[in-house]
Amino acid sequence: MHQYDVVIVGSGMGGLACGTILAKEGYKVCILEKNKQIGGMLQIFVREKVIFDTGVHYVGGLSEGQNLYQLFRYLGIMDKINIRKMDEDFVDGLIFKDDPIIYKYGQGYDNFIRIMLSYFPDEEIAIRTFCDKIREICKQFPLYNLRAGSYEDFGNAYRTDTNAYLESITKNKKLLCVLAGTNLLYAGQPDKTPLFVHALIVNHYIESSWKFVDGGSQIARYLVKEITSRGGKVIKHVNVTKLKEEGGKITYAEAENGEKYFANTFISNIHPVKTLEITESTMFRSAYRSRLKSLESTISVFYANVVLKKNSFKYLNSNIYCFAEEDPWCALNYTEDNWPQGYALFYVPSSKESEFAEGVTIMSYMRMNEVEKWKNTFNTVSHENDRGVEYETFKRKKAELLFNAVEKQFPGFKESIKSYTTATPLTARDYIGTEDGSLYGFAKDYREPMKSFISPGTKIPNLLLTGQNINMHGVLGVTISAVVTCSQLLGMEYLVQKIRNA
Ligand SMILES: Cc1cc2nc3c(=O)[nH]c(=O)nc-3n(C[C@H](O)[C@H](O)[C@H](O)COP(=O)(O)OP(=O)(O)OC[C@H]3O[C@@H](n4cnc5c(N)ncnc54)[C@H](O)[C@@H]3O)c2cc1C
Repeated sequence: MHQYDVVIVGSGMGGLACGTILAKEGYKVCILEKNKQIGGMLQIFVREKVIFDTGVHYVGGLSEGQNLYQLFRYLGIMDKINIRKMDEDFVDGLIFKDDPIIYKYGQGYDNFIRIMLSYFPDEEIAIRTFCDKIREICKQFPLYNLRAGSYEDFGNAYRTDTNAYLESITKNKKLLCVLAGTNLLYAGQPDKTPLFVHALIVNHYIESSWKFVDGGSQIARYLVKEITSRGGKVIKHVNVTKLKEEGGKITYAEAENGEKYFANTFISNIHPVKTLEITESTMFRSAYRSRLKSLESTISVFYANVVLKKNSFKYLNSNIYCFAEEDPWCALNYTEDNWPQGYALFYVPSSKESEFAEGVTIMSYMRMNEVEKWKNTFNTVSHENDRGVEYETFKRKKAELLFNAVEKQFPGFKESIKSYTTATPLTARDYIGTEDGSLYGFAKDYREPMKSFISPGTKIPNLLLTGQNINMHGVLGVTISAVVTCSQLLGMEYLVQKIRNA
């Protein structure tokens, strides 16, 4: 019989971070993962010897003394991961329709301000006001600063619309666009996304920005080592189809093949709505179920992973965000006729250093309804299925449109393509197990800021939730969520102290 202290369903960043924290605290942990590869969005794949990330292209906060650095130190992986600091003066480059300038974000606030002033010399007050505001908001979030506490209602930062705030500090339209220009990092919506989301994300990248050399899956690999070296287990190819409640608590997780995994505590790293679907219990009130079901998800994505011809396309230690309009929020409101309205281009950071890139990933938003026709198909490496010729044609057409858009800013790009693969919202759905292939989980709204905050505790006392739908997405957001989840078992003060002392 499989008997553990804690069974965790899903081996995404959240599941693995919880597993590591609890294994370090002496719990006998078992993580169950449906896929062939662990890590959820940390997964990588290789084409023509080029390593592509699926869901981690860069992270912030990894310089000594910063939040993710300290969290990774505590998790035992900081000295093992192979990371590369991005260009100090050019982490993100923003390109807007018909404007020849690439607006660059620098690392470090002084540097960020210095570079912004070179484009907007008359806007010093607005730029400094923006930076002060971002830092002031970030200070309010205890765990972001590794202090005990949780995400609570911090008033203004929650209840301010990002775009409205930017409009309040400057009349300079271009500066406004530039300051909002990385909103693809959270699938931002004007008149919706609260300022705290923009602040927490932009701040950690301004503090420091890093790429994982040869893929972000190394995070997962090292976390698994931390877990297994303490007697824990991470089991692949286990699709959990039932969490069985008996007598007011979950007694076991049951896999598709009927195998049962017993434990005292269960943590679900899968989508909360899916968690409810597989939980056999009357303890969840229908109001809770409908609230979760009614939450809007962030949009999904189409991406092309391109292997480049040798020595053909210059490598930048940077990212590019490009918009078809002057408006940085335009990418969401595409139509079939004008797609893509915006894209992000991420260079593959390889250990084989060269002035030329081996590969790039190009991402643009895509709604699930575009692939509605093929919704009844399922395709992953463990369950290979051909979605058909029409689907392949659809993907090829979209890739071509994306490449045409890139070619406009980077003449010669199309000529440098050696081969490519694509992924659609269905890919994200099938690999991660969400209904809608959402990029970053639930969308946040400044009008109802607390609605999309899901508590890690549930009505069933020994069932906890973790992952990007709880609190915040991203490697940092999800790691903090794992701390919130584990603090339910360990105590917040105790756990935060351990992290600070690591
Ligand atoms: C395209 C893209 C780009 C991104 N870029 C960045 C970036 O550059 N930097 C950054 O910090 N963040 C980025 N993110 C966000 C970040 O990757 C995610 O927020 C984070 O990895 C999500 O972690 P999670 O713990 O919620 O788990 P997930 O990654 O959602 O994993 C959940 C796991 O549960 C498993 N599972 C699901 N159902 C079952 C079941 N029934 N039984 C067993 N297992 C199951 C899944 O297979 C999966 O492994 C990106 C996301 C996307 C989609």
